[in-house]
Amino acid sequence: MNIIHLSFECYPIAKTGGLADVVGSLPKYQRNLGADAWVVMPRYSNDWVNQRDVQVVHAGAFYMGLQRFEFEVHKVKSDELGFPLYLVHIPGKLDRKGIYVDPDSGYGYLDEFERYLSFQIASLEWLRTFTTRPDIIHCHDHHTALVPFMMTSCHIFDDMQNIPSVLTIHNGEYHGNYDMHKRHLLPEIKEGHAGYLDWGGRFNALSAGIRKAWKVTTVSETYMQELQESAGGLEGLLKHESGKCMGIINGIDKDVWDPAKDVMLDYHYTAKTVNKGKQKNKRQLCEYFNLNTNYPLISFIGRLVKEKGADILPDLISNFLDQGGRASFLVLGTGDHWLQERLRIMSKEFTGYFDSSIQYNETLSRRIYAGSDFLIMPSRVEPCGLNQMYAMRYGTIPIVREVGGLKDSVRDIGEEDGSGIRFRYFTLDDALHATYRAIGLYEEQEEFKKVRSGIMGLEFGWDSSAQSYLDMYKQLLN
Ligand code: ADP
Repeated sequence: MNIIHLSFECYPIAKTGGLADVVGSLPKYQRNLGADAWVVMPRYSNDWVNQRDVQVVHAGAFYMGLQRFEFEVHKVKSDELGFPLYLVHIPGKLDRKGIYVDPDSGYGYLDEFERYLSFQIASLEWLRTFTTRPDIIHCHDHHTALVPFMMTSCHIFDDMQNIPSVLTIHNGEYHGNYDMHKRHLLPEIKEGHAGYLDWGGRFNALSAGIRKAWKVTTVSETYMQELQESAGGLEGLLKHESGKCMGIINGIDKDVWDPAKDVMLDYHYTAKTVNKGKQKNKRQLCEYFNLNTNYPLISFIGRLVKEKGADILPDLISNFLDQGGRASFLVLGTGDHWLQERLRIMSKEFTGYFDSSIQYNETLSRRIYAGSDFLIMPSRVEPCGLNQMYAMRYGTIPIVREVGGLKDSVRDIGEEDGSGIRFRYFTLDDALHATYRAIGLYEEQEEFKKVRSGIMGLEFGWDSSAQSYLDMYKQLLN
């Protein structure tokens, strides 16, 4: 079975979050199960891409509106990723350093829609030249959600309308929502089909994808239920289409995320050597950030945005420390400017007990997973959440709000085989209570160590979820 994954992100080539981790690992596990999975993504002009040897496998041209673009498809020669990687090269549109944001100016690209659309048209132009057609086209998030629409509703792709398409929603907060005039940039649309692009008078890529994909998935079962209740206006559509919707929880790449051999760590450990191993990582981390090593270290890693509940952190941490609570806190992330500023100020106010690192830094994130005692995720919305799984793999106990994939992957320590601390409501009281429970657990060192080594052995690998995707594709092919 030949599966083509179309995505704007893929680890380690280009990553801003979980989408990259999933697209960089799921195909590998699908291949282990005997499928022929490939990844097709934009050819950005970043270090990873520029340092690779490629072979040009296709050259073509397409129109986006009245403008003609020439493009090439490059196959990366090395097999280091565990799956074939194809890069769509559209000079002037995709060959930039950033994915969504220009790293030099810090501002998002003004032609983001044209970047998404040109990638999708070029990919389909290339795929339709294949003598043997792909079996499944698997699209990820709104950036590629127009593919299922164009395959069924644009004349030029008529010969692809019988190929099953799948759309996975990794983050339903973003719809690809624009003024309706953007539809004129698409190839000629069949009569009566333009309405699929319209949601409430606006062009909405995600809604078109949901309506036109053969199957719609989200990255956890609970998130699918939640989206059917609230999805920024698309909840009714998702309810209406519920017959073709399902949730499949993400897995993690156990080769890439392994504290026994993570190349970004100085001190490696296994579940057997976790106590010593984490102690060394914690000391290194605390010395670097000038934090008190004797206290439990509670960290946050992620986008500093409302969705992640990051705006509760300043009040949570300052209340806890003002009340004389005994813990150290560390935050790694970028996002809302007011929050970044507040965290910077707090670093000075609570020196020795709190610090923040306002940046995106993969190595530092691994060192925090390895060196922390707890990882806090107070998310308002969490489609799946990978951080809690990485944390558990690195022996760091998650403190999570019961939402989305966090609900599906973390069991409270009050239950048998508990793996973390859960709290229900997005309130300061609930979050504080959960933090105090974490401190209570830390003080019971025997129990704390038992939980810690236990969670390292939990099964969050891709094997069963990769199989669920294959089973779903097979149903579509039948
Ligand atoms: P998202 O909604 O942001 O995609 P996920 O939990 O699915 O959230 O995935 C987040 C991924 O991004 C994880 O691999 C996490 O370690 C990583 N990450 C988030 N913020 C940072 C950061 N500032 N530096 C390094 N890695 C980060």
